[in-house]
Amino acid sequence: PPPAEKYEYQAEVSRLMDLIVNSLYSNKEVFLRELISNASDALDKLRYLSVTEPQLLKDAVDLNIRIQTDKDNGRITIIDSGIGMTRQELVDCLGTIAQSGTAKFLKAVKESKDAGTDNNLIGQFGVGFYSAFLVSDKVVVSTKSPKSDKQYVWEGEANASSYTIREETDPGSLIPRGTRLTLYLKRDDKGFAHPERIQKLVKNYSQFVSFPIYTWQEKGITKEVEVDEDPVEAKEDGQDENTEKKKKTKKVVERFWDWELANETQPIWLRNPKEVTTEEYNDFYKKTFNEYSDPLASSHFTTEGEVEFRSVLYVPAVAPMGKDDIINPKTKNIRLYVKRVFISDDFDGELFPRYLSFVKGVVDSNDLPLNVSREILQESRIVRIMRKRLVRKAFDMILGISMSENRGDYETFWENFGKHLKLGCIEDRENHKRLAPLLRFFSSQSEEEMISLDEYVENMKPEQKDIYYIAADSVTSARNAPFLERLLEKDLEVLYLVDPIDEVAIQNLKSYKEKNFVDISKEDLDLGDKNEEKEKVVKEEFGQTCDWIKKRLGEKVASVQISNRLSSSPCVLVSGKFGWSANMERLMKAQTV
Ligand code: ADP
Ligand code: MG
Repeated sequence: PPPAEKYEYQAEVSRLMDLIVNSLYSNKEVFLRELISNASDALDKLRYLSVTEPQLLKDAVDLNIRIQTDKDNGRITIIDSGIGMTRQELVDCLGTIAQSGTAKFLKAVKESKDAGTDNNLIGQFGVGFYSAFLVSDKVVVSTKSPKSDKQYVWEGEANASSYTIREETDPGSLIPRGTRLTLYLKRDDKGFAHPERIQKLVKNYSQFVSFPIYTWQEKGITKEVEVDEDPVEAKEDGQDENTEKKKKTKKVVERFWDWELANETQPIWLRNPKEVTTEEYNDFYKKTFNEYSDPLASSHFTTEGEVEFRSVLYVPAVAPMGKDDIINPKTKNIRLYVKRVFISDDFDGELFPRYLSFVKGVVDSNDLPLNVSREILQESRIVRIMRKRLVRKAFDMILGISMSENRGDYETFWENFGKHLKLGCIEDRENHKRLAPLLRFFSSQSEEEMISLDEYVENMKPEQKDIYYIAADSVTSARNAPFLERLLEKDLEVLYLVDPIDEVAIQNLKSYKEKNFVDISKEDLDLGDKNEEKEKVVKEEFGQTCDWIKKRLGEKVASVQISNRLSSSPCVLVSGKFGWSANMERLMKAQTV
């Protein structure tokens, strides 16, 4: 046979392996989940391709995962009948990691270490395969892709800077298609090779994998076997010699090894919502999306009629890591299935608008073609209808959180995803009615706890027509703005818009429950308390002073006017009715710098 060829790992990989093995995980067990999820991905890929190329299945129709343990030698073998890898794919997939992924991963590692947490980083960053080295000294991957007529063996050892690839030559090791991965466990980790231990781990971690997972288990069948009566006893029992000889039976246990199904393969979204517990929904969420915390809310529904699909949606309890890509439409948060076949999780606004891209979930449709492509998704009428329904359900779910008895739930939500909803006010006119009640702001009467627009409206004075707001960079500077004086004096509540995006969002909404939003820093603020007599007198008295100030300031101001909106400050700078507010001006400046 040709000799094994030696390859160096991409530099990041060896650094990463070192990190994973030596410092990161107290919870080594995750290796099994990662390897099973790779097997499941490989089966998904095959099933998907076989829709258009059925001949791919010809050599082995069964799509499953089998795990065999050898406790005497401390080995675990994981076999899948999935898509396998070609020689080049072995090099590309197991010897390199996408640059960006690596950088992010290393950064997150550092952050999580600083925070002293033991996060589930492996799954999030697509470096799952290397978790095999958490428990193994050596890993051997023998794999056969339907694209290649040869089977190849990848072999790597912990803490090594290189790996080898050779052709599989042992006839007993040839497989029709797929991957067989053998772990040579470290001395201290040989315990994982106990069949019962593996069975338990699979049940725990991979309950929702949609392919059958079998583990190799020792079983026993109890059989009743007939035994001849003891001849001595028979003799002593002389009197009964004529009666029929009694037959005795004995129970014996016959031991043998066989594959045992370890998981349930009925997907959760096909089950009756009445029969699924919250815990099961949460487990499904955590396992499907590699999350450690329970979601804030979930929603399981079926739509019928024009378009039929089933879906389970979730609102996460934590925002994704990496604040820079806070509003990232390419999140892999929605997994699309067609007739239970996984199609894609790579969407760019087709199923959810980008401001709702934080919603996670699965969608299974019977109406889309199995070979649905990006282009089809973008143009499909069915997808448009689905999107509408999904968005509505997502809003229902968020509204549900806002009405929860536990006010803290919505506070958590708002802290994580409030920005997204404000972006929605700007981008999605059609859903203003759904978005507005979900917004939260501080106000002159509630500086500690945010209030909703409904709460504001309830608190309005009988004669008050508008919703007042002021934009500032903090609650403190909003509170100290001179514009506020008159309104406070009249006990009118003013919303404090302290997030840069707030003002734009509010301006897009324009009104709420037929009440206009009014910026109290604009020049024509009308509090409905004009006293013409008094104004005339004041004008006569200070008209010349105004002219003089305007002359002195020249181009620096548009005009100098007598105002009825101050009570204790001598003067205030306001923006023109059609001009930018001071806050907007600050924002625009910040953007152009
Ligand atoms: P991820 O699964 O996030 O892509 P991994 O490190 O877990 O990252 O795996 C790297 C790649 O190796 C996979 O994307 C896949 O292409 C390939 N791979 C891993 N395991 C298998 C397998 N059992 N069958 C086929 N390909 C696999
Ligand atoms: Mg993986």
